[in-house]
Amino acid sequence: LFISLYYLFMWFKRPSDRSALYYVMLCFFVSVYQTNLFNTLFPFDLSSLMSYLTYQKIIFASMCGVAFSGILFFHAFTEQRDRRNIEIGIVAICCVSALVLTAIPSYELFLFVRRYVVSLVGIGAAGYVLVWSAVLVARRNPHIRSYLAGLVPFMLCVLSDVFFHNILNFSNAIYLSFLGMPAFMVAIAFAMGSKHVELYREVARLNAGLEQKVFDRTRELVEANRTIEEANRRLRVMSQIDHLTQIFNRRCFMENLDVEFERARRYGNDLSFIMFDIDHFKWVNDTYGHPAGDAVLRDVASCVRSSLRKSDIVGRYGGEEFCVVLPQTHPDTIAGIAEKLRRGIELLRFESDGRAFSVTASFGVTELRGEDPAPSAVIERADKALYLAKHGGRNRIESA
Ligand code: GH3
Ligand code: MG
Ligand code: MG
Repeated sequence: LFISLYYLFMWFKRPSDRSALYYVMLCFFVSVYQTNLFNTLFPFDLSSLMSYLTYQKIIFASMCGVAFSGILFFHAFTEQRDRRNIEIGIVAICCVSALVLTAIPSYELFLFVRRYVVSLVGIGAAGYVLVWSAVLVARRNPHIRSYLAGLVPFMLCVLSDVFFHNILNFSNAIYLSFLGMPAFMVAIAFAMGSKHVELYREVARLNAGLEQKVFDRTRELVEANRTIEEANRRLRVMSQIDHLTQIFNRRCFMENLDVEFERARRYGNDLSFIMFDIDHFKWVNDTYGHPAGDAVLRDVASCVRSSLRKSDIVGRYGGEEFCVVLPQTHPDTIAGIAEKLRRGIELLRFESDGRAFSVTASFGVTELRGEDPAPSAVIERADKALYLAKHGGRNRIESA
């Protein structure tokens, strides 16, 4: 009964493990059944509370209870769920037997019927468990060994009782079932304990696996984030840099111009501006081919970029048209800077299909003035100066 209380507690803690509940039932029925043999050991003598027939019926009913809860326990303990129908059938036989027998009014008739029913239920249940145990041993069920460690000694005790008392008629031989049943209960209690330990180990193992998974997943996410960040960075660059010339594209250049315009206005700084356009570039394309034209654009941009300060802003404004913003650069120096660029471009050498050629560019320069309402005013003036340079013979610098 104490063991059953403990497992009742275990079952409350883990209701999914039915074996604990069936074990409680088994312990209870065994306890009641054992009073039959050793009622003088118990503080409460059931037989003194009721008629002897009723007492015998309760003992018999508890024996049926041992059989059916034993089978339920056997299946739950060994985690066999594929024989549900047979299990239910056996439980039904036990319940019906118990009900029928307890309904019999006469003591003699009860004893007569009981002899056969006890054999049927007892041998049937024991046989069922033994045959199934053999099957489970063959199937290498992980729990069957612990179960048999309790069951086999118990069966041996019961068989020796049957042998001495019923076959050899030794009425004063000791009852070995008295030892066998508690031994069985204790063995099963140990087995269930070790099963719990196994389960907790399994849980710990699963937890460790889960932690590893969380760790791996987190690392994957961090890596994915890094990839996304890198992709975003490349996207940002792509949206700002002109693919062919690797300088600012028009949109990004205009944004920078706006910022420098505002800054120069606020602090009263100088701001110079250059716009230049490659001369007869259409002719270059037509004569030497588009790839040669692309190479010209690349080299011109690179030449201009490397001739200027890092703080100067160079952008591709149109097809072969470029602009430069020179913050904090005095207007008096701008013509000199433009001349340096013009000369640099003029000195570049190109080659296409064995034919060498060079290009020139025309420049329009200007600077930020107090009356300029917006950056567009500066651009317009530079554009006018560039127009003058083109019409003045190209490869030259004009200011406005
Ligand atoms: P001008 O001296 O008056 O500036 O004459 P131009 O031929 O340079 O000017 P125009 O505007 O007539 O021609 C510009 C040419 O630049 C036309 C266009 O095909 C070419 N172009 C624009 N973008 C690119 C490019 O990315 N690669 C190449 N290869 N050519 C380009
Ligand atoms: Mg041109
Ligand atoms: Mg042009």
